[in-house]
Parts: sequence; C-alpha cells; structure tokens
Amino acid sequence: MAKKSLGYVELEWICPNCDTRNPGSRRVCINCGTPQPDDVEFHQPAQEIIIEDEKKIEQAKSGPDIHCYYCGARNSATAETCSQCGADLSEGARRDAGEILGAHRDKKAPPIICPACGTPNAPTAPNCVQCGNSLTTAKPEVTPKPITQTGQPIPLPENQSSGGIPARMVLIGVALAAFICVAAFIFLSGRTEEITGTVNNVTWTRTIVIEGLVPVEREAWRNNIPAEAIIGACSPQVRRTQDNPAPNAREICGTPYTVDTGSGFGEVVQDCQYQIYDDYCDYTVQEWRPIDEAEIQGNDFSPRWPALSLAAGQREAGRDETYRVHFRTEEGNFTYTVRDPTAFSRFQSGTRWILEVNTFNNVTAVTPAN
Ligand SMILES: [Zn+2]
Ligand SMILES: [Zn+2]
Ligand SMILES: [Zn+2]
Repeated sequence: MAKKSLGYVELEWICPNCDTRNPGSRRVCINCGTPQPDDVEFHQPAQEIIIEDEKKIEQAKSGPDIHCYYCGARNSATAETCSQCGADLSEGARRDAGEILGAHRDKKAPPIICPACGTPNAPTAPNCVQCGNSLTTAKPEVTPKPITQTGQPIPLPENQSSGGIPARMVLIGVALAAFICVAAFIFLSGRTEEITGTVNNVTWTRTIVIEGLVPVEREAWRNNIPAEAIIGACSPQVRRTQDNPAPNAREICGTPYTVDTGSGFGEVVQDCQYQIYDDYCDYTVQEWRPIDEAEIQGNDFSPRWPALSLAAGQREAGRDETYRVHFRTEEGNFTYTVRDPTAFSRFQSGTRWILEVNTFNNVTAVTPAN
C-alpha cells in the first residue's frame, strides 16, 4: 500500500513540571521555562491544522530531534552541536519517531471548560485564560476512531449465525441425511428377484448429432478477445488493484492518520491503493454447437445409421445407439437395454430368459433360461 502524505500538523506536549500544554515546536515550557525532557511524549492536539509555514514544514521534514548527551537540551535533527552547551550531538539520543498517534483530527474541536472556574477556553489553550489553571486534565470530548496499523477502521466482528441452530449442526444433519439416502439406495438396489420372461419384441434407435457454426455471445477483457470475434458493447471495469499510482487509475484511500515524526510535528498520512481500469466487452464468435439430430428406429436385427446430407457449415458430432428388448412375464412387461448390436441379436422373438429385477423394477441382468 502506498503512503500518501497530506502534510504536517503541530503536535503538543504537556510540561511535567506545571501541566501546561505546549506547542510541539517549543523547546522550553511557555509557562515555567522548564526545558522539554527527552522522555516527554508528543500528543495530537484536539484539532489538527495542516501547517503552511515553510520553516515549520522544513523542521517537520528534518526528522527526529536530538537531545544533548551532556545538558539534555533539545536540538533539531540537522544540528551538529548543541545550541545550549556546544557539545557534539553525534552521541545524543534521537527521539522516537514513526508511532501512529491516531486518526487525523481535522474537525473543529469543542472548547475546553476549565475544571476550576468553568471558563470555556480554546481547544489549544495552554492554561485557563481566566484563572491560569491547568486544562490538561479537562480533555475535550474527542472520541478517536479505532485504527489499525494501516489507519483503516477496525471492522466489527460479524455475527456467527443468524438463526437459532448453528450452521455446523445444520451441515452435519444434511450430510447424515445424504449418507442414509445413499446407504438405503445401495441396499435396495442390491436386492434382486429372478423372473422368467419371453422376448416379445425388440427396438433399436440410432442417432447422429449434427453440429453447426452458430454465433455465441461471450464476455472478456478486450485484450483476451479472439481476433476473429465481433466486439460489442464495452465498459471500463476494475481489472486489478495495485499499490503504486498509475495513469487513469482510481485512487482509493483509507482514513487519514497522524504519525509522530519526533520533531514536535506529526505527519498526516493516508494508505492508498490504485484501481486499474480496463475495457470489459461483449463479443460474438462462431462456435460449433449441436443444431440437429438424424435418427432412425427399427424392430429388426439389422440396425442402420441414418443417411446424412450435411449442409455447408455443418458437421457430424457423435453417434449414439440404443437397443431395447421387451419381455413379457407373469409379473408384467419389462424392458432391458443393450449397448452392443451383437449381444442384441441373441434376443430373438419368443426366446426365454431369466431376468434379474431389482426393487426399483429395473432389469439389471439377463441370462438364457434352459
Ligand atoms: Zn511548565
Ligand atoms: Zn547541550
Ligand atoms: Zn479557569
């Protein structure tokens, strides 16, 4: 995912000595003059405003501040020697950076009511304008959205099941029912009865499937359409999503969030992805499809294939033959299907056979009766 910067905002820090709220760029407390200690944390102000001041932007971009190893004074990332004591800063401690502080607070913040005197104060006021009391314990009503590493809102867990019975139980029930059906089928079809029958008559059917070239409508990405196809309507659709920007791509970004740069400023960033569009089209191609059947039937033992006269753009596409023997028995009429014409010729009219009949009244096998 691509990180997109929306700019920088000034963070704030709370003086550990007097609880005064200080702008992130201040190196000493505006109220009591205490230097900012190296372990103080930067916070998001109640309302974050993207800064326009070039000098502040440069400071924000320069990276985490360095605290002097000797005197503890805070120096910019670009400084080589301490602005207070002149010590070499190469041994100084760089502030932490990169922590996600929360969703970008771009909405107008409500005033802070002084807990001591009740006076409404600006959301960024260091102390109460009326009585000078600290305002850091009276936080304005800000409810930051929960954010993940990427700044996206955390999705709420979905309900596991909508009904009273868990889905797993239903699945087990269905599987069990299916198993019982299959077992019953195997059991019942396995039971056969022997019946003696006489061949009453026979029928054969021979079929040839004829295919023709017919127009078929299909859909595909434009570059996957065969050259001979006729292209119909096309519309741009999302073909893939990638992390890097591209010409004509649609940018999809998550909620902006603020990252601590360690310089007293936060960078407001957004995680973005890019949808690449492409033409998805209807097209028509000629394909072989069954369009007709030639079929003949007979009641003799000389089966024949139907005579074909194929027109242009037609072809034969498969043959099928079926031979049926019709038996008369004391328990009614039965039909037995044979695949092979040689086996079929054994069922001369009037011959006697023993039929294996299962519980579904299907003849599963026949043997000559002596
Ligand atoms: Zn202070
Ligand atoms: Zn120093
Ligand atoms: Zn007050």
